[in-house]
Amino acid sequence: MNGKMQEARPLIFSETKETLAAALEARGEKAFRATQILEWIYKKRVRSFDEMKNVPAATRAWLAETYDFMPAKLVAKSAQASDVTEKFLLQMRDGALVECVILRAPQEGTGEERSRKTVCISTQVGCAQGCKFCASGLAGWKRNLDAGEIMAQLMFVCWEGGDKGTRETGFTDFDNIVVMGMGEPLMNYDATMRALTIANAPWGLGVGARRITISTSGVVPKIHALAAEPMQFRLAISLHGATDEVRSQIMPVNRKFPLAQLIPAAKDFSEKHGRMITLEFILIENVNDTLEQARKLAEIARELHAHVNLIPYNTVEGLPWKRPSGNRQMQFLKILQERRVPATLRREKGHDIDAACGQLRLRNLDKEKTANAS
Ligand code: SF4
Repeated sequence: MNGKMQEARPLIFSETKETLAAALEARGEKAFRATQILEWIYKKRVRSFDEMKNVPAATRAWLAETYDFMPAKLVAKSAQASDVTEKFLLQMRDGALVECVILRAPQEGTGEERSRKTVCISTQVGCAQGCKFCASGLAGWKRNLDAGEIMAQLMFVCWEGGDKGTRETGFTDFDNIVVMGMGEPLMNYDATMRALTIANAPWGLGVGARRITISTSGVVPKIHALAAEPMQFRLAISLHGATDEVRSQIMPVNRKFPLAQLIPAAKDFSEKHGRMITLEFILIENVNDTLEQARKLAEIARELHAHVNLIPYNTVEGLPWKRPSGNRQMQFLKILQERRVPATLRREKGHDIDAACGQLRLRNLDKEKTANAS
């Protein structure tokens, strides 16, 4: 691919109100111009600087020379699955492939009229954490996404992820953001926080902080950093093992930050934010689905006052793991419920369409390799 990142212009999506105002003031413009420009981008959702009608032509020309607008092109889109999950494979300016997913779930009490829409975004190209069950970990880490590229995924969904019924407006909105796609967000902390600040800001997308969940594999120092942030984002921890022995077997991060460090960090976050955290636990047959693991998991969840989200494993091509039987899944859940741990057992969204993180990208990388080899 051509277009090297270091030569690319910055993305307008990576500017905050303060940084854009400062850039405009530096060229002698009034600071209110930043408010106007951001309104065109995030409220009126224009797709070019030219459409910003109340911005002087000279300023529009400067914007077009200084910034790039949407950096992401659609490369592949998954078929709509039965559980209404939609997956987009996006290509950034340097050719890097990034996934984002829309998950739709019926709103409780509102019937079929409107579904709750969650957007799952990526923060890195590939991932260095190397979780053994994960497609993203298989292809390794390529680079971090910058704040504008993280925001671009949300803007792409605003532009292209329309539902019937809202389509005539040209725009669509979502209820929740989960930072749970490809990559470890806390290993790309500054860019992730900047993007989420823009997503949350009233001059940005205006998504409430409590509707934004950051999911981590357990990067302990950064969980403490997140705990000290003023913004009330939610935290989900990918636990996937309730003892060091089991967790280290499938998550290399546990060797660096074992449970004796991870649990106090999670406690620090929930105490400072007064929010219940979520423990994600992918159930894998003969790896972490023993009833002893369920009992240990219940102890951890009770200590943290956490909610447990059990996710039966979604098979990844090229990996040996399997999901446990329905019966075993229910036994595991029952142990948590008997100990009064709030827990849900869910079928992974997008099971039909490779929605486990990194699968669509991995499939496309394989296709590229096959094409190059022939
Ligand atoms: S599960 Fe998450 S943290 Fe682990 S390798 Fe996959 S993307 Fe990275």
